[in-house]
Amino acid sequence: MTSQATPSAAKAAAAERRDQAVRAAVEQGLAGPDAPIVALLDTTGIRTGAAALRTAFAAVTDAPVLHAFAVKACPLVPVLRLLRAEGLGAEVASPGELALARAAGMTAADTVLDSPAKTPAELREALALGIAVNADNPQELARIDAFMTSAPSASPVGLRVNPQLGAGSIDALSTATATSKFGVALLDDGARDRVVRAYRERPWLTRLHTHSGSQGVALPLMAQGVKVAYELAEEINAAVGRRQVDTIDIGGGLPVNFGSDEETPTYASYARLLKEEVPGLFDGRYGLVTEFGRSLLAKHGTVLARVEYAKSSGGRPIAVTHAGVQIAARTVYAPASWPLRIAAYDAKGRPKTGPSVAQDIAGPACFAGDLLAENRPLPLLEQGDYTGVLDTGAYYFAHHYSYNSLARPGVYGFTATAEGVRFATVRDPQPIEDLVAEAGGAHTDGLL
Ligand SMILES: *Cc1c(COP(=O)(O)O)cnc(C)c1O
Repeated sequence: MTSQATPSAAKAAAAERRDQAVRAAVEQGLAGPDAPIVALLDTTGIRTGAAALRTAFAAVTDAPVLHAFAVKACPLVPVLRLLRAEGLGAEVASPGELALARAAGMTAADTVLDSPAKTPAELREALALGIAVNADNPQELARIDAFMTSAPSASPVGLRVNPQLGAGSIDALSTATATSKFGVALLDDGARDRVVRAYRERPWLTRLHTHSGSQGVALPLMAQGVKVAYELAEEINAAVGRRQVDTIDIGGGLPVNFGSDEETPTYASYARLLKEEVPGLFDGRYGLVTEFGRSLLAKHGTVLARVEYAKSSGGRPIAVTHAGVQIAARTVYAPASWPLRIAAYDAKGRPKTGPSVAQDIAGPACFAGDLLAENRPLPLLEQGDYTGVLDTGAYYFAHHYSYNSLARPGVYGFTATAEGVRFATVRDPQPIEDLVAEAGGAHTDGLL
């Protein structure tokens, strides 16, 4: 399959690869009674998505574009390495994420450091390495001033601005509200003038950064945010009388369709909309940085979990599985905002058929709300069957929540070959000794 495949062909191919992988995972013993939960990543899907992103922007501009994957969406080193092989860079927001990006071989030129709370040590390291830094606020700019005076850096430095355009449908993920914690709030009294002055006073401040979307934010609102950043760059450059701002970082935030296998909206549609709304951004005068996360990985991850017990309570069938809050904290705690699709497989890993029955899909954790789906119509799950928790490649199994000391599942990439499905280890399952060590096992007598 290529990025030129029609959406419905691509959709069918992705679903077929997933079903093949589930069957093979059960046949090969990757999933089974002793490995009741595994996470699977569709290597082909990830590659195809990354290529679609590059193609979408190449179709609307000849300007240089760095696609910096937002590491927080899937902080797994082999995934970062795969994306690097596909020509992507990394957007990092903590010392840990920076270390992961470096372990994956990301170069300084391909890395961007954002984060609203960078310490002096983090800033010093990034500037010494030549990594691009987006400052969040005037206090951070003052810190960078001091570093630049003592040791000039080759790092491109930008400032994050908040266009204050309003929220999407999920408050916790809306970065561009009037009172958001991110960036300089542009509409606040005198803020715009202060920003222009900050650039005038700092010839090394050459980038402008905004990230005004995420799940729940519609494309037109995201495009408005980019337009605000572009217009501000034009204003700054006019005020200083040269092309000081040479690169605009438009952030990520493309929403993901969690309702079907269709990948919509597409990068191509977003790039076309941006070109329509902000043509000047694409005429070659500005370099571009993007920071997509969820949209690059979400559709390519599946959690496969064994049904340990099938029971009934108050007349409602319940499948008690091994996938719950530990791999899907958002869905369990905020089910209305984060519904997930569940696929039913039989004990051999084949898609389960049969009449739909409304049932609860429960996780293993010891609290009543540990449900991935309530009253979900599916073929009736039985003991030994499997559930596939779909679209979990970003912000789900890579974001383990250690409730009940449940171990992190193994993560495996899969590729379909002529000989069948081949799995590659991305992350080993967490050994129990690790859990003890993380729980202070080295300090057993520490409180005596
Ligand atoms: C989280 C984040 C992203 C990625 O957002 P997605 O919704 O996963 O695409 C990009 N940039 C910044 C600054 C972020 O905080």
